[in-house]
Amino acid sequence: MAARKFITFPDQTDMPHTADVVIIGGGPAGTAALWAIERYAPGTRAVLIEKSDRLGAGSSTASLENYRSCWPTVCLARQMTRSIDIYHHADDYLGEGARQAIALKQQGYLFCAFTEKQAEGLRDDVRHLHSIGLPHIEYLDASEVRYRFGPISRNIVAAKFDPVAGWLDSNALIHAYARSTNSAQIILNVPEVHLQTEQDHIAAVQIPGWRIATRQVIIAAGASSRAIGKTAGVDIPVMLRPRQSFTTGWRHADFPEGSPMLIGAHPYPHVRPEAQSGAIFGWEYNWHNKRVKTGGNETTRVDALDDPVEPVGQLKDPRFPSITLMLLAKQFGHSDGQGFADSRYLRGISHNIGYYVQRDETAAWVTNPDGSIQPYDSERAIIDAHPAVEGLYLSVGHVGHGIMSSAAAAEILACKLFGLPLKDPSFADFGIGVNWVEHDKNAL
Ligand SMILES: Cc1cc2nc3c(=O)[nH]c(=O)nc-3n(C[C@H](O)[C@H](O)[C@H](O)COP(=O)(O)OP(=O)(O)OC[C@H]3O[C@@H](n4cnc5c(N)ncnc54)[C@H](O)[C@@H]3O)c2cc1C
Repeated sequence: MAARKFITFPDQTDMPHTADVVIIGGGPAGTAALWAIERYAPGTRAVLIEKSDRLGAGSSTASLENYRSCWPTVCLARQMTRSIDIYHHADDYLGEGARQAIALKQQGYLFCAFTEKQAEGLRDDVRHLHSIGLPHIEYLDASEVRYRFGPISRNIVAAKFDPVAGWLDSNALIHAYARSTNSAQIILNVPEVHLQTEQDHIAAVQIPGWRIATRQVIIAAGASSRAIGKTAGVDIPVMLRPRQSFTTGWRHADFPEGSPMLIGAHPYPHVRPEAQSGAIFGWEYNWHNKRVKTGGNETTRVDALDDPVEPVGQLKDPRFPSITLMLLAKQFGHSDGQGFADSRYLRGISHNIGYYVQRDETAAWVTNPDGSIQPYDSERAIIDAHPAVEGLYLSVGHVGHGIMSSAAAAEILACKLFGLPLKDPSFADFGIGVNWVEHDKNAL
């Protein structure tokens, strides 16, 4: 009889003693890795270890589940183009019924300008996006925006429109990845993992009372990745920033169900319709560490953390929903009681938080003309072998786009794992040692 696919620890029935590869973390990155490994090397005995009693228990629970094709960095633009193609053909890539399950809603992203200066910025963006092979991104003037999107665009001077963008069901995507493989086992509810090495080579994964011998490990544990790396004596160069979102059950009439995702001007509050009558909001505001204590020690970073604070919920800012609404109302020209300034938006809110995991200053920097080093906020994940421990691979630092990028990210990882050529030369830019890439800067 075949071994069970899902095991809930501490049940040890069918627990594997060995594996070809062990993946740590059952979010979008880890489950997509299962899918890509099976696709590139069918029959590989992969074991996925998840801390929670369910898959997708990390940042994806707070996410807006959006995807877009317009990225100014070539490697990110190609990564998303490839991923979106896989989602569009999900039945072919992930198995029958996957396309329906992931419920793609291709309603576009509308980046809005409210002043001539902002409009000029969007015009430049569109020119650049065309120059890197994204000719479908449109620059729309005020009358075109009004014609296409109606009263919501009353105050908009111009817009950048990504018609390929949209949103999907991230939980269904995670489960479609997990379902797509026959050779894998998934162990849930594992409270702790330690990596064991022998002579700088991965030797095993130790979980409480059980050892799985393996020569290859993939760390895909989101915010906890750094701590897991430490058990193998390596420092994974990522930092964490808490990010919030909130969902409302109500939406004003000028913002109908078929609307695109709306992205305001700086500081970029954003919102999209959710279900039949609601909306889901986000805003990447500058988070400042108010001397958070992690594991008894104060963290030293000012605007980020090294390790997650648990539960992450304690970092929620209760003002977040009202400030986001206020920003949107101001930009869209809504006065009290109108549009985004309608108090019904604040009733029955579901307020969520998760971490953006991002390359830190040791993995993303530019050299100034005077030779000094300037760190920057990179959007590039690290999808690579770790140079210090043979057999250790990373799929970490997916920032605010780890759902949309997960399919192509996993293919890149599988190519590295099996020594295959990358599908696109720009994918080398996800290397751990690539400190700088043009146009790779924190931007929504
Ligand atoms: C507010 C917000 C909005 C976002 N919006 C979007 C969006 O619109 N589109 C998009 O594409 N992305 C979005 N993101 C980003 C996206 O959620 C992340 O990039 C993505 O979830 C990263 O995937 P991951 O698998 O690397 O990590 P995670 O999703 O964090 O998953 C990590 C998994 O590892 C598990 N784990 C942790 N520690 C251990 C351990 N010790 N052992 C075993 N398992 C462990 C966790 O339980 C979890 O299941 C958003 C994020 C936030 C916070």
